[in-house]
Amino acid sequence: MPRQALYRRYRPRRFADVVGQDVAVQVLREAVRRDLLSHAYLLAGPRGTGKTSVARILAEAAACHAPDDGEPCGRCPSCLAAEGTGHLDIVEIDAASNRGIDEVRDLRERVLHAPVLGRRKVYVVDEVHMLTTEAFNAFLKTLEEPPAHVLFIFATTEPHKLPITVLSRCQRYDFHRIPEPLLVARLRAVAEAEGLEAEEAALVRIAGASDGGLRDALSLLDQVMAGGPVTDARVRDILGALDEGLLAPVVEALLRGDPAGLLEAVDAAYDAGRDPRQLLRDVARRLRDMWVQELFGAEGGRPGGPRPTAAWIAALEHLAEAEARLRGTFPPRLILELGLVKAAEALAPREAAAADPWPTASAGGDEPASSAVAEAKGISGAPDTPATGTVPAPASELPAAFRQVLERLRQRRQMTAALFRQVTVEEGDDAVTVWFHYPAHLKVLEDERSGHRALFLECFRDVYGPKAVRWAVREDAGPRGPSAASMLERARAVFGPDVPVEIVEEG
Ligand SMILES: [Zn+2]
Repeated sequence: MPRQALYRRYRPRRFADVVGQDVAVQVLREAVRRDLLSHAYLLAGPRGTGKTSVARILAEAAACHAPDDGEPCGRCPSCLAAEGTGHLDIVEIDAASNRGIDEVRDLRERVLHAPVLGRRKVYVVDEVHMLTTEAFNAFLKTLEEPPAHVLFIFATTEPHKLPITVLSRCQRYDFHRIPEPLLVARLRAVAEAEGLEAEEAALVRIAGASDGGLRDALSLLDQVMAGGPVTDARVRDILGALDEGLLAPVVEALLRGDPAGLLEAVDAAYDAGRDPRQLLRDVARRLRDMWVQELFGAEGGRPGGPRPTAAWIAALEHLAEAEARLRGTFPPRLILELGLVKAAEALAPREAAAADPWPTASAGGDEPASSAVAEAKGISGAPDTPATGTVPAPASELPAAFRQVLERLRQRRQMTAALFRQVTVEEGDDAVTVWFHYPAHLKVLEDERSGHRALFLECFRDVYGPKAVRWAVREDAGPRGPSAASMLERARAVFGPDVPVEIVEEG
């Protein structure tokens, strides 16, 4: 049995223990205390700021038979059930993983039944913006005339995606990023409770990297303490490995001259809360290093081969210009993207520029099985795929179970989930194969210091049980990507002679 994650072990059980959301918590607790709960609440705000924890406390308090100053009493049958194996009247729906279809299907009939154990029946819907339209409609019908004993608690990171008809029926509370000093104080308290020596600078750095999310901060602390003492130097080391996972795809797409890949990589970096200015500086620093390597003849295996000095200078100037423009009022993300795309154009490999940059969509489908893919299959003994097997399914078509894995991962650590932004997944009878679009993502995943692989496997096993997982580098990079041969060459440069990397993780 693996050790339980810190963020789970230190999840607040009472309103009084919630960090940094004073307004929402005070109002909700007061509503419980005075028995004036509304029928539907919406908790909106960034990831890891306590929405799910508050939703659970509120659910427990609402179902409790004798709330204690607005807190769940912890002693009545309802509270004992909620803290034990499960509560018949508290239904948690994770809209992100199953999109709520099953749970919501007969919602309208089920809400009519009186609660069994608690004072109320409570539906907690996490990531509610991901519900299907049908599921929303089922909720709406119920929200129009909710039975007196029913309480809905919706949580979302993206309230703007909710239908106005739902918004207008909910009391809304906005959760905010937690200020750094509060995060540091909480990290300090957890470290002490764990009997850990932790450098103050290390905790400050963890808090700074967590973008106001307590869950991310605790996950990072978890990861640092798993590998040794909690020192500033180790935190810096681990964060470096994490950043590399976001930076490398940006640089790779830029060197490939692949605008679609570039925007995708920027999106992933944004999702993980990276600052546009820092990203620009990191990319510029990386390009500058490559240029210097090239000047001194140390360049090896870079897509497109060596560039003329003028191309490097033009690319770096585009980045510098973008950095300067970030001080203005234009949307920073757009400036970042423009600067990167311009730099990519400046560095576009000549032979790639000569080739047709917009091949027809069918071009990839008729290709024979690409060699890396075929090789990987040969090694793993996976069954043959249909003729179109090398054409990757878009990420939106990931198998439902794998999406559940990613959702768990996202809940645990955003950075790890970001590595799976562009993968193709094949479910076999006894193994699941994950094809990576970016070799760098696989490289980061495999980096022991990063802890990504262990975390992924934990979530994977939660969903797939004893199935094995195989990694492989996907050879084609989409319709605008480089040729199969150049990708294979690049993969070889990254991984050495044993490409494609193919590791079978035993379940
Ligand atoms: Zn109770």
